[in-house]
Amino acid sequence: MKTIFETGARGRGLDILPKLDVPEAAIPDSMKRASAPRLPQVSEVELSRHYSRLEKRSFGVNDGFYPLGSCTMKYNPAIDEEMASLTNFASVHPLQGEKYSQGCLEILYTAQKWLCEITGMDMATMQPAAGAHGEFTGLAIIKAYHASRGDCRDEIVIPDSAHGTNPASASMAGFKVVSVKSGEDGCVDVEALKKAVGPKTAGLMLTNPNTLGVFDRNISEITRIIHDAGGLNYYDGANLNAIAGVVKPGDMGFDVTHLNLHKTFATPHGGGGPGSGPVAVKTLLADFLPDGVAVKTADGYALSRPGRSIGRVRSFCGNFSVVVKAVCYMLSLGGDGIREASQVAVLNANYLKKLVCERYESAVDGICMHEFVLTLEGLKKETGLSALDVAKALIDRGMHPPTMYFPLIVHEALMFEPTETESPEMLEYASKMMKEIYDKALSDPDSIHRAPTKTVIGRPDEVEAARNPVIKFY
Ligand SMILES: *Cc1c(COP(=O)(O)O)cnc(C)c1O
Repeated sequence: MKTIFETGARGRGLDILPKLDVPEAAIPDSMKRASAPRLPQVSEVELSRHYSRLEKRSFGVNDGFYPLGSCTMKYNPAIDEEMASLTNFASVHPLQGEKYSQGCLEILYTAQKWLCEITGMDMATMQPAAGAHGEFTGLAIIKAYHASRGDCRDEIVIPDSAHGTNPASASMAGFKVVSVKSGEDGCVDVEALKKAVGPKTAGLMLTNPNTLGVFDRNISEITRIIHDAGGLNYYDGANLNAIAGVVKPGDMGFDVTHLNLHKTFATPHGGGGPGSGPVAVKTLLADFLPDGVAVKTADGYALSRPGRSIGRVRSFCGNFSVVVKAVCYMLSLGGDGIREASQVAVLNANYLKKLVCERYESAVDGICMHEFVLTLEGLKKETGLSALDVAKALIDRGMHPPTMYFPLIVHEALMFEPTETESPEMLEYASKMMKEIYDKALSDPDSIHRAPTKTVIGRPDEVEAARNPVIKFY
């Protein structure tokens, strides 16, 4: 198999640009390359085949089941992509002025309003470009709020079942992280939480449902404990796919939340973006939102700078095309449709969990939300096979593996999130494959250890590949 650098021939290439018919701009010599870049020199058909070949080697939601937990790899309607690519959205210039961008501003305003309705918040910003970016923005707002009151609190309480970005964002925003353990049931240990809060507590970050797929049963008590200590509550709503249209973070005592439009609201997840991590807040924090909130005035729509704004977190209005997709998605589903999507996501996860747990062991008992976690510790003791081996064996059976070794608090973890877009037949097929692998693991562990055998690359030496990558470039 040749890389694109090894195909083609010198001098061969595409001639798709017309001849220059304007004066050539004078580029200073200091800014010019000494020699031409070594780009592949291929014909149009060679280029086209190259991409087609790469496309066939990759696996996406349009190829099959992709139950990557904590990622929401669901099918997103093509109509939303089509709307986002309408010329008037795709070609809008960020400097063309508010007067000439009324339609786009209305989209931003509508998105803010509807996301506030869904989260039970009062005001929102569409600027952050991803979930973790939203967390950083929300924490900067919490920090500015305490500072404005002359209150120097610098600790953020985070349960050990939180998404990994939570402690990372808190640290980046200049806070100290205070970790709190979870109980057997996967919920926050309320007694441990009471001990962890104090006069230094700036707030709490709660991932809910948490990374074990559990909706915290003590959620109202948790937010009350933090408020009583003088802190604010941050809801990591990246996985709103489980609760949108059913419950609202704002009703559960939260002051700030972020959402991942690229998980829940119709932008495909992965591939490096673009994403969007809007942040919604209660009125007491609205004055601290980033510069550039869309507002409706007597003269139409405009962008405004809140009085005590933390400033900008992204150029212009963030990843606008993602916002168009989200508005289109919400419009096509409607309130009832959004609720139904969440309910079916939870139903699908519980159905798959029930079937798979006829063999495998679940990390926590009981009803899960949109995802669930297995622990393969028992299977490993018995057969020597790991969660990685089972994941690899799924590839040969036409499925993308679930998330592996996450959350960190579960040994030999496999985390499944089927999403609302899968049919019962697909869930039954997936569980059948999981059970087949389990039985094979007991009867013929070597065959599982060799998988996958149907892919171009089977078992790369991952350490070697990371430390000493062989990058062909001539
Ligand atoms: C995905 C996710 C994030 C991070 O979102 P990015 O867009 O990848 O930065 C944060 N929290 C939770 C719970 C998530 O699932």
